[in-house]
Amino acid sequence: MNVPFLDLNAQHAPLRQEFHAAIEGVIDRCVFAGGPVVEEFEEEFAVFCRCRHAIGVGSGTEALWLSLLALGIGPGDEVITVPNSFMATAEAITYCGARPVFVDVDEHTYTMDPKALAKAVTSNTKAVIPVHLFGQMADMKPIQAVANEFGLKIIEDACQAHGAEYTGQRAGSIGDTGCFSFYPGKNLGAFGEAGAVVTNNSELYDKIRILRDHGQDRRYYHSQVGWNCRMDGIQAAVLRIKLPNLETGNQLRRAHAAHYNQALCDIREITIPTTAFYAEHVFHIYAIRVRERDRIMRHLASRGIGCAVHYPVTIHLQEAYRSLGYAAGAFHVAERCAAEFISLPMYPELKPEQVEQVTEVLREAVTCSI
Ligand SMILES: *Cc1c(COP(=O)(O)O)cnc(C)c1O
Repeated sequence: MNVPFLDLNAQHAPLRQEFHAAIEGVIDRCVFAGGPVVEEFEEEFAVFCRCRHAIGVGSGTEALWLSLLALGIGPGDEVITVPNSFMATAEAITYCGARPVFVDVDEHTYTMDPKALAKAVTSNTKAVIPVHLFGQMADMKPIQAVANEFGLKIIEDACQAHGAEYTGQRAGSIGDTGCFSFYPGKNLGAFGEAGAVVTNNSELYDKIRILRDHGQDRRYYHSQVGWNCRMDGIQAAVLRIKLPNLETGNQLRRAHAAHYNQALCDIREITIPTTAFYAEHVFHIYAIRVRERDRIMRHLASRGIGCAVHYPVTIHLQEAYRSLGYAAGAFHVAERCAAEFISLPMYPELKPEQVEQVTEVLREAVTCSI
């Protein structure tokens, strides 16, 4: 039995008629770029995040970039984040003219180590971007304490954490803004590129809404220089159909994770993911750690099991950021994770027998050493 890493067709099949009707609705109403369907989605997504406002944008990367711009971050400023994230987290910092500064992560949650954050603050630090990696939120309370002490803004990178919680508070609702991606493979995915910023701050809401639409408040009256970061009407229509299933999808992901954990916890060679006491995890990614990754991944592939690595190279060691001057060994936990992570198949539609198949093949892979 083959087990694909991701199976979007399984998610879309039962909703096909609804998608067709919703997309036809956008065609009939001719509301393609921003507009009323995007506004409808924004209201619903804000409710889901338990936030006052949501702003639909073109991608998660734009959500991060516009958040930084709206908070006045620019040249000469430093923004602290983690090296074990998708490149976009750091790119957004670079694209507003500021400098990304990295700190290591906690070895159990793989999210920002608040003690490392406190040590990295300088007089130029303006903001911090904790990344809620794999669907588990960073430890926000001590991060907030550091941010308060030094007057830093907090931008949550919640691109992998739709519906995740920190002691009952939803991802995105704690920082100055929360940034979401609706890239097709995320827990809530569009039929192309899309993203959103959520915030409880009405001033930031107004600023980001204007920035994403060429800095115009009224059509053709531009109060500032912005950019085109609007969400497509068709993407909003698709997301409105998928949003009501997100909660159930996250529950199923947690159930699959529990199944994986129970089947893998006795294998000495495998480190299973840890759910922090504060967290409601939404398992965007189910990642294990192993020493002999290449051999084990080859074995999984040869038996038809789809897997991936998130991410093989930490951001501070990417060629693109050589000019920042970080060396190998700068962040021990993040670098070790990059060498040891394997992401296993994880999506709501995964069947229990598929989870079992993956765990059996894994057990076989670690015990045989061919
Ligand atoms: C997906 C992702 C992004 C970028 O989102 P896009 O919609 O692809 O621009 C940023 N940060 C993290 C952690 C992500 O997983």
